[in-house]
Amino acid sequence: MPKLIYEITPHLKMLSAHPTLDGFEDFVGCYLLIGEKKALVDVGPTAGIPGLLNALSMAAVSPDEIDYIILTHIHIDHAGGIGQAVKTMKNARVVAHSRARNHLIDPTALWNASQATLGELALRYGRIDPVPENRIIIAEEGMQLNLGNGLVPEILLTPGHAPHHLAVFDRLDRILLAGDMAGVYMHDFFRPNSPPPFKFQEFLTSIDKAIDLQPAQIGYSHFGCYGDAVKKLHAVRAQTVLWHEIVRVGAKQGKTAEEMFGLLRTQDDTIEKIEKLDKSVYPRDYALILNTIRGLMAAE
Ligand SMILES: [Zn+2]
Repeated sequence: MPKLIYEITPHLKMLSAHPTLDGFEDFVGCYLLIGEKKALVDVGPTAGIPGLLNALSMAAVSPDEIDYIILTHIHIDHAGGIGQAVKTMKNARVVAHSRARNHLIDPTALWNASQATLGELALRYGRIDPVPENRIIIAEEGMQLNLGNGLVPEILLTPGHAPHHLAVFDRLDRILLAGDMAGVYMHDFFRPNSPPPFKFQEFLTSIDKAIDLQPAQIGYSHFGCYGDAVKKLHAVRAQTVLWHEIVRVGAKQGKTAEEMFGLLRTQDDTIEKIEKLDKSVYPRDYALILNTIRGLMAAE
């Protein structure tokens, strides 16, 4: 049985969102901020909502107690389940980037894009239901949500990975909830996470903004919360710059994404670590890295 709840501080837990898809058991982390009020950061895909509700109940939190759901961005693995979540979390208002708003109200284009990018995986994640317009709050740079007990998470607009990306900074414990803005950190290694339409310069600006905050810990959606946050932010910045350069050269030579995977292998030992992953998770990571390479190929 995969672990569902990770205790981080007295105010913060990570809940695993979907333990039901093979190879994705420990893949999507949602964060629960606990003051007098409660906020969830991301909800995972529709297929993960039963698991998330299970984790909430194990944390002794009823769905009615969730006051805010902050969406780091609206990629299907983070927010596909939001329409289902707001039906159960009846008092929750959804805090999202202005560029996410219309997609939340009418997710048709988001669903089509998810299928185009992820293929069959989108179907396994499950359909995306709409969110009623009156439940949505548009996030602004520096917006603070006062949850009580000194817990005042702050919004940072962090485009790059996606135009509708934001991060959440908990000043009380100096924890950055990074969503996908700072790559993936799983199985003890980093990798860039830059599916199309990745914006390279915006990514760099967003990472630098996060470094300026000097967080002590960083909570990744994929997967878990760790110390040495600034070091990790610098590392993934440098790695993304390296991959971008390698892929840019490869693209000029007309190489395919699959060939570039081999090219990256010669210059970053992360690829070798990925190849050694258990066969239950390697196909997932391989497919996602090809998407990351495709995003870097087209990146501005
Ligand atoms: Zn994403």
